[in-house]
Amino acid sequence: MCLTTDKKILKFIDMNRREFLKTLAVLPLTALAKTSSRGYYVDPKVASYWIKKEGNTVQCQNCPHKCVLKDGQRGFCRVRENRGGKLYTLSYGNPCAVHIDPIEKKPLYHFLPGTTAYSIATAGCNFRCKHCQNYQISQVAPEETSNYKLPPEKLVNEVLHHKNRNNISSIAYTYTEPSIFIEYMLDSAKLAKKEGIKNVYHSNGYLNEKPLLDLIPFLDGANIDLKFFKNDSYMDIASGSLEPVLNTLKKLKAGGVWLEITYLIIPTINDDTKEIKEMTSWVLDNLGDEVPIHFSRFYPTYKLENLPQTPLKSVEKAREIAIDMGVKYSFVGNVPSGNPGENTYCPACGKLLIKRRGYYILENNIKKDSCPACGEKIAGVWK
Ligand code: SF4
Repeated sequence: MCLTTDKKILKFIDMNRREFLKTLAVLPLTALAKTSSRGYYVDPKVASYWIKKEGNTVQCQNCPHKCVLKDGQRGFCRVRENRGGKLYTLSYGNPCAVHIDPIEKKPLYHFLPGTTAYSIATAGCNFRCKHCQNYQISQVAPEETSNYKLPPEKLVNEVLHHKNRNNISSIAYTYTEPSIFIEYMLDSAKLAKKEGIKNVYHSNGYLNEKPLLDLIPFLDGANIDLKFFKNDSYMDIASGSLEPVLNTLKKLKAGGVWLEITYLIIPTINDDTKEIKEMTSWVLDNLGDEVPIHFSRFYPTYKLENLPQTPLKSVEKAREIAIDMGVKYSFVGNVPSGNPGENTYCPACGKLLIKRRGYYILENNIKKDSCPACGEKIAGVWK
């Protein structure tokens, strides 16, 4: 996808996330497509994070599902398989989605605004979200998606090749759940860091502590979906649980990774004011007041097509609640572009600091890392 012509920029300005995701399958990165044909590539590689059990049985230790797998069985994420008593990953170096995106699309609003992220995803996920906007690639196995052959060395070379022309600051591991391709992500992130490229990920946060702690030194930014603040909802809607996600948030923050949170408001599921207040209160108590919270609108999709689209006022109200409770930076997402809730304001004097329209920056008034009007330091990664 080339973002260099005005026509294309205008086309993407008003494209919301849901519309963008529909284009994943049809917008291959032009230059990459020239040098790397797509196919159903699966290159099994012995996985990290597993232990041997009795006989040929193994147990994956990568995420809280801790799948116990007999010979020939595949994990809940559809990408890790027991072959002859060893656990293999089938998602190493074979992304099914490769794009250059504005970093704002992750969304990361206080992380090098106006730059782009070379974004990749493989097939598979360790959640079963009934509202997944990207289920065509997240709820299938790698054999069911058309993939690029893009091992870490080639990925980093591609990023370096496109870096200057496209203002790329980072590689984003995104779209599906990057934790399920942890080996690929980790090897790529290590190489990228050596080349001065930053690494960010957008994740459901459902990862065990050991792989998370291995990843943190190479991560610069993260947006974690805090999908609900009720364990029952996690179980019913996503086939996961709340506590590991909260633990991931705390570990990322403690590890010095720039952190933002997305809370997708789904009517009747998690739009209750009490739940939003409890979630916000937890964030303030455990992560502090400088972690941005994005309240995003749900659009009926996949297995939740029966629910209505989130009213605009629900996300606007949630943002107001968060700010009233003390969160310094909160945003609305998946809204018609031009909403004031897309902007960053100084939490001390209220000056408009970053004006956004959709995924694009119209004004950035931050000087170094501070408000030019009152000098307040603005949390984020600015250079
Ligand atoms: S990463 Fe996959 S195989 Fe491993 S525990 Fe999680 S769902 Fe199971």
